[in-house]
Amino acid sequence: MKKPVIRLAVCLLAICSLLLTTTFVTQADAAPKYRWKLAQTWGTGFPIFGDAVIKMADMVKEMSNGEMEIRIDSSNKHKAAFGILDMVKAGQYEMGHSASYYWKGKDRNTLFFTTMPFGMIAPEQYAWFYYGGGMELMKEVYDRHGVYSYPGGNTSNQMGGWFQKEIKSLADLKGLKMRIPGFAGEVLAKLGVVVTNIAPGELYTALDRGTIDALEWVGPSLDLNMGFHKIAPYYYTGWHEPATELQFMVNSKKFDALPKHLQAIVETAMKLAAYDMYARSYNDSAENWDKIAADYPNVKIKTFPKEVIAAMKAENDKLLKETASKDPVFKKIYDAQTAYMKKARRWTEISDYAYLKDNLE
Ligand code: CA
Repeated sequence: MKKPVIRLAVCLLAICSLLLTTTFVTQADAAPKYRWKLAQTWGTGFPIFGDAVIKMADMVKEMSNGEMEIRIDSSNKHKAAFGILDMVKAGQYEMGHSASYYWKGKDRNTLFFTTMPFGMIAPEQYAWFYYGGGMELMKEVYDRHGVYSYPGGNTSNQMGGWFQKEIKSLADLKGLKMRIPGFAGEVLAKLGVVVTNIAPGELYTALDRGTIDALEWVGPSLDLNMGFHKIAPYYYTGWHEPATELQFMVNSKKFDALPKHLQAIVETAMKLAAYDMYARSYNDSAENWDKIAADYPNVKIKTFPKEVIAAMKAENDKLLKETASKDPVFKKIYDAQTAYMKKARRWTEISDYAYLKDNLE
């Protein structure tokens, strides 16, 4: 009679031990409770922009001890490089990474949260976002789309682009075919430029085959990898994107449904990844410009002639005022940015600008 009792005891012990093991498995070893998907405008392996997204997702996984995981789908997979806002809005993806000015065709007020021609430089713009009311205005605009929007990494000042021919006067802009997105594209269109937006993966071929005569992309940080310096000799300094901030988007309902600690983790990871991208962009632009200058001495740095810059500025101001007169939200954001830039610039003038001016002369 003893044997069945012993067998039962052994069985119970085994069950208890299994239960204990299961109970004390750490979250890091367990399957994540929250599995999210993020759609990005960028292709697989796209440097800097794509790396910022990977860093954000890695931080979320580590900080949540594996409770939350974010899968990243690049444009190679979802095939909708410029459809990120719609997919996040619809809840098809919980998150997205792109640039706010890509949505200007759907909502012109999204323009302000990337960069504006002749607008703020990156330190001024970050100050505006976090301490000057920028985040609140961005929320107001994106609330209409059921999406929360956050700064997603800054490229710093962008170059004016790669040109096959030198721009010597306003006449040289007439009929010029150029890829340039955002408000700057509208400004150049007023000056006779034939403006297009082309997905990143097709830019090199378009410039190489003469489908376009000029393009702007970012700056040396990313332009080197794209190879534009091999096919266009003139590299112009920037006017149109002084502080391009990318964008993380989160579906509002999905975000609100997250526990508070995961909301804090996602927000912290996005902010850190954004700042990290700014530092990385600056570093890579410095390194890559050295490489381009050394390996391709025929590349000439140019600044647009004064008359061209003056015409761009005049058209820019005119377009801003025209649009503001038709849209009270546009006017509110335009006025807020203009007022903040004036304030921040008075400080920039006697700090960074004064320092650089004295050191460069
Ligand atoms: Ca650009």
